Amino acid sequence: MSAPRSAERALRDAVIATAREMNALGINRGKSGNVSARWRKGNFDGYLITPTGMPYASITPTDIVAMPIDGQTDATRSRRRPSSEWRFHRDIYRARHDAAAIVHTHAPFATSLACLCLGIPAFHYMIAVAGGDDIRCAPYATFGTQALSDHAVAALEGRRACLLANHGMIAIGVSLAAALALAVEVETLAEMYWRARQIGEPVVLPASEMEVVVAKFRTYGQPES
Ligand SMILES: [Zn+2]
Repeated sequence: MSAPRSAERALRDAVIATAREMNALGINRGKSGNVSARWRKGNFDGYLITPTGMPYASITPTDIVAMPIDGQTDATRSRRRPSSEWRFHRDIYRARHDAAAIVHTHAPFATSLACLCLGIPAFHYMIAVAGGDDIRCAPYATFGTQALSDHAVAALEGRRACLLANHGMIAIGVSLAAALALAVEVETLAEMYWRARQIGEPVVLPASEMEVVVAKFRTYGQPES
Protein backbone atom coordinates (compact mmCIF):
# COMPACT_ATOMS: atom_id res chain seq x y z
CA MET A 1 0.00 0.00 0.00
CA SER A 2 1.27 3.47 -0.80
CA ALA A 3 1.54 6.06 1.94
CA PRO A 4 -1.27 8.61 2.16
CA ARG A 5 -0.54 11.91 0.45
CA SER A 6 0.39 14.77 2.72
CA ALA A 7 -1.86 17.83 2.70
CA GLU A 8 0.93 19.79 1.01
CA ARG A 9 1.37 17.15 -1.67
CA ALA A 10 -2.39 17.13 -2.27
CA LEU A 11 -2.40 20.92 -2.68
CA ARG A 12 0.57 20.77 -5.08
CA ASP A 13 -1.37 18.21 -7.13
CA ALA A 14 -4.44 20.48 -7.08
CA VAL A 15 -2.43 23.51 -8.28
CA ILE A 16 -1.15 21.45 -11.23
CA ALA A 17 -4.61 20.09 -12.01
CA THR A 18 -6.05 23.62 -11.98
CA ALA A 19 -3.32 24.93 -14.31
CA ARG A 20 -3.98 22.07 -16.75
CA GLU A 21 -7.74 22.57 -16.47
CA MET A 22 -7.56 26.28 -17.34
CA ASN A 23 -5.88 25.34 -20.62
CA ALA A 24 -8.29 22.45 -21.24
CA LEU A 25 -11.22 24.84 -20.71
CA GLY A 26 -9.82 27.23 -23.32
CA ILE A 27 -9.35 30.15 -20.92
CA ASN A 28 -5.57 30.02 -21.25
CA ARG A 29 -3.10 28.85 -23.85
CA GLY A 30 0.45 27.58 -23.67
CA LYS A 31 2.70 28.54 -20.77
CA SER A 32 1.11 31.93 -20.09
CA GLY A 33 -1.02 32.32 -16.98
CA ASN A 34 -0.29 30.91 -13.54
CA VAL A 35 -2.01 29.39 -10.51
CA SER A 36 -1.38 29.50 -6.77
CA ALA A 37 -2.95 28.36 -3.50
CA ARG A 38 -2.39 29.70 0.00
CA TRP A 39 -0.36 27.31 2.14
CA ARG A 40 0.35 27.48 5.86
CA LYS A 41 1.97 24.77 7.92
CA GLY A 42 4.02 25.01 11.10
CA ASN A 43 5.91 28.28 10.88
CA PHE A 44 5.59 28.47 7.10
CA ASP A 45 3.05 31.04 5.92
CA GLY A 46 2.86 31.52 2.20
CA TYR A 47 1.56 29.99 -1.01
CA LEU A 48 2.31 27.30 -3.58
CA ILE A 49 2.69 28.61 -7.13
CA THR A 50 3.34 27.23 -10.59
CA PRO A 51 6.97 27.56 -11.81
CA THR A 52 8.02 29.95 -14.54
CA GLY A 53 8.37 28.85 -18.14
CA MET A 54 7.31 25.20 -17.85
CA PRO A 55 4.55 23.57 -19.92
CA TYR A 56 1.78 22.53 -17.55
CA ALA A 57 1.68 19.03 -19.02
CA SER A 58 5.21 18.32 -17.76
CA ILE A 59 4.99 19.89 -14.29
CA THR A 60 5.33 17.49 -11.35
CA PRO A 61 4.50 18.25 -7.67
CA THR A 62 8.14 19.02 -6.82
CA ASP A 63 8.18 21.71 -9.55
CA ILE A 64 5.57 23.73 -7.65
CA VAL A 65 7.30 26.54 -5.75
CA ALA A 66 6.66 27.33 -2.07
CA MET A 67 6.82 31.09 -1.54
CA PRO A 68 6.72 32.88 1.83
CA ILE A 69 4.11 35.59 2.30
CA ASP A 70 6.62 37.97 3.90
CA GLY A 71 9.48 37.61 1.48
CA GLN A 72 10.63 37.10 -2.03
CA THR A 73 11.88 33.69 -3.15
CA ASP A 74 12.70 30.78 -0.90
CA ALA A 75 15.40 28.95 -2.80
CA THR A 76 16.02 26.52 0.04
CA ARG A 77 12.56 24.98 -0.26
CA SER A 78 12.13 24.83 -4.00
CA ARG A 79 14.12 23.60 -6.98
CA ARG A 80 12.32 25.80 -9.53
CA ARG A 81 11.91 29.54 -9.93
CA PRO A 82 8.35 30.76 -9.34
CA SER A 83 6.07 32.30 -11.94
CA SER A 84 7.32 35.75 -12.92
CA GLU A 85 4.02 37.08 -11.52
CA TRP A 86 4.68 35.92 -7.94
CA ARG A 87 4.54 39.52 -6.67
CA PHE A 88 0.84 39.98 -7.34
CA HIS A 89 0.07 36.55 -5.92
CA ARG A 90 1.97 37.46 -2.71
CA ASP A 91 0.38 40.90 -2.46
CA ILE A 92 -3.15 39.61 -3.06
CA TYR A 93 -2.73 37.02 -0.27
CA ARG A 94 -1.44 39.80 1.98
CA ALA A 95 -4.30 42.16 1.16
CA ARG A 96 -7.15 39.67 0.87
CA HIS A 97 -7.85 37.28 3.69
CA ASP A 98 -10.74 35.91 1.61
CA ALA A 99 -8.30 34.65 -1.04
CA ALA A 100 -7.19 31.03 -0.70
CA ALA A 101 -6.39 30.62 -4.40
CA ILE A 102 -5.53 32.75 -7.43
CA VAL A 103 -5.92 31.96 -11.13
CA HIS A 104 -4.27 34.29 -13.65
CA THR A 105 -4.94 33.70 -17.35
CA HIS A 106 -4.56 35.37 -20.73
CA ALA A 107 -8.12 34.34 -21.65
CA PRO A 108 -8.81 35.53 -25.24
CA PHE A 109 -11.98 37.60 -24.75
CA ALA A 110 -11.06 39.08 -21.37
CA THR A 111 -7.64 39.95 -22.72
CA SER A 112 -9.10 41.48 -25.90
CA LEU A 113 -11.15 43.88 -23.74
CA ALA A 114 -8.09 44.52 -21.57
CA CYS A 115 -6.12 45.47 -24.68
CA LEU A 116 -8.65 48.30 -25.15
CA CYS A 117 -8.28 49.12 -21.43
CA LEU A 118 -11.98 48.30 -21.07
CA GLY A 119 -13.41 46.93 -17.87
CA ILE A 120 -16.76 45.11 -17.97
CA PRO A 121 -19.78 47.12 -16.79
CA ALA A 122 -23.05 45.67 -15.45
CA PHE A 123 -24.34 44.81 -18.94
CA HIS A 124 -25.45 41.45 -17.46
CA TYR A 125 -26.49 40.74 -13.89
CA MET A 126 -23.91 37.93 -13.59
CA ILE A 127 -21.23 40.63 -13.26
CA ALA A 128 -22.15 40.37 -9.56
CA VAL A 129 -20.34 37.00 -9.44
CA ALA A 130 -17.13 39.03 -9.15
CA GLY A 131 -18.47 40.85 -6.08
CA GLY A 132 -19.79 44.18 -7.38
CA ASP A 133 -21.37 46.08 -10.25
CA ASP A 134 -18.39 45.98 -12.58
CA ILE A 135 -15.13 44.16 -13.29
CA ARG A 136 -12.37 46.76 -13.38
CA CYS A 137 -9.40 46.86 -15.72
CA ALA A 138 -6.15 47.65 -13.90
CA PRO A 139 -3.81 50.09 -15.70
CA TYR A 140 -0.92 48.62 -17.65
CA ALA A 141 2.44 47.95 -16.04
CA THR A 142 5.27 45.62 -17.11
CA PHE A 143 4.68 41.98 -16.19
CA GLY A 144 6.30 40.84 -12.97
CA THR A 145 6.70 44.34 -11.53
CA GLN A 146 5.63 45.77 -8.21
CA ALA A 147 3.70 48.43 -10.15
CA LEU A 148 1.55 45.75 -11.82
CA SER A 149 0.95 44.12 -8.45
CA ASP A 150 -0.12 47.45 -6.91
CA HIS A 151 -2.52 48.10 -9.81
CA ALA A 152 -3.99 44.59 -9.51
CA VAL A 153 -4.59 44.80 -5.76
CA ALA A 154 -6.31 48.19 -6.23
CA ALA A 155 -8.51 46.91 -9.09
CA LEU A 156 -9.56 43.94 -6.92
CA GLU A 157 -10.78 46.18 -4.09
CA GLY A 158 -14.25 44.88 -3.22
CA ARG A 159 -14.05 42.40 -6.12
CA ARG A 160 -12.90 38.84 -6.75
CA ALA A 161 -11.74 39.43 -10.33
CA CYS A 162 -10.14 42.10 -12.48
CA LEU A 163 -8.69 42.56 -15.93
CA LEU A 164 -5.08 43.68 -16.48
CA ALA A 165 -4.63 46.20 -19.31
CA ASN A 166 -2.79 44.79 -22.35
CA HIS A 167 -2.23 41.56 -20.43
CA GLY A 168 -5.01 39.30 -19.06
CA MET A 169 -7.16 38.70 -16.00
CA ILE A 170 -7.02 37.58 -12.36
CA ALA A 171 -9.67 35.63 -10.42
CA ILE A 172 -9.45 34.82 -6.72
CA GLY A 173 -11.48 32.41 -4.61
CA VAL A 174 -11.85 30.54 -1.35
CA SER A 175 -10.51 27.46 -3.17
CA LEU A 176 -8.77 26.57 -6.41
CA ALA A 177 -12.09 25.32 -7.78
CA ALA A 178 -13.80 28.61 -6.91
CA ALA A 179 -11.05 30.73 -8.48
CA LEU A 180 -11.09 28.61 -11.65
CA ALA A 181 -14.89 28.72 -11.88
CA LEU A 182 -14.82 32.51 -11.52
CA ALA A 183 -12.16 32.81 -14.23
CA VAL A 184 -14.48 30.85 -16.55
CA GLU A 185 -17.39 33.17 -15.63
CA VAL A 186 -15.30 36.28 -16.29
CA GLU A 187 -14.23 34.96 -19.69
CA THR A 188 -17.85 34.10 -20.52
CA LEU A 189 -18.99 37.60 -19.55
CA ALA A 190 -16.12 39.13 -21.54
CA GLU A 191 -17.18 37.15 -24.61
CA MET A 192 -20.83 38.20 -24.26
CA TYR A 193 -19.86 41.84 -23.73
CA TRP A 194 -17.56 41.70 -26.75
CA ARG A 195 -20.32 40.15 -28.88
CA ALA A 196 -22.94 42.65 -27.69
CA ARG A 197 -20.64 45.53 -28.60
CA GLN A 198 -20.43 44.23 -32.17
CA ILE A 199 -24.09 45.09 -32.75
CA GLY A 200 -24.64 48.09 -30.53
CA GLU A 201 -24.06 49.71 -27.17
CA PRO A 202 -25.04 47.25 -24.41
CA VAL A 203 -27.60 48.49 -21.89
CA VAL A 204 -25.99 48.81 -18.46
CA LEU A 205 -28.13 47.87 -15.46
CA PRO A 206 -28.63 50.69 -12.96
CA ALA A 207 -26.61 50.73 -9.73
CA SER A 208 -29.79 50.25 -7.68
CA GLU A 209 -30.59 46.99 -9.48
CA MET A 210 -27.02 45.74 -9.14
CA GLU A 211 -27.17 46.41 -5.40
CA VAL A 212 -30.14 44.03 -5.28
CA VAL A 213 -28.33 41.41 -7.35
CA VAL A 214 -25.09 41.64 -5.36
CA ALA A 215 -27.11 41.23 -2.13
CA LYS A 216 -28.92 38.20 -3.59
CA PHE A 217 -25.60 36.61 -4.54
CA ARG A 218 -24.38 37.16 -0.99
CA THR A 219 -27.51 35.56 0.49
CA TYR A 220 -28.55 32.87 -1.97
CA GLY A 221 -25.77 32.38 -4.45
CA GLN A 222 -22.89 29.99 -4.12
CA PRO A 223 -20.33 31.70 -6.35
CA GLU A 224 -17.52 30.57 -4.03
CA SER A 225 -18.63 26.97 -3.60
ZN1 LIG B 1 0.26 37.06 -17.39
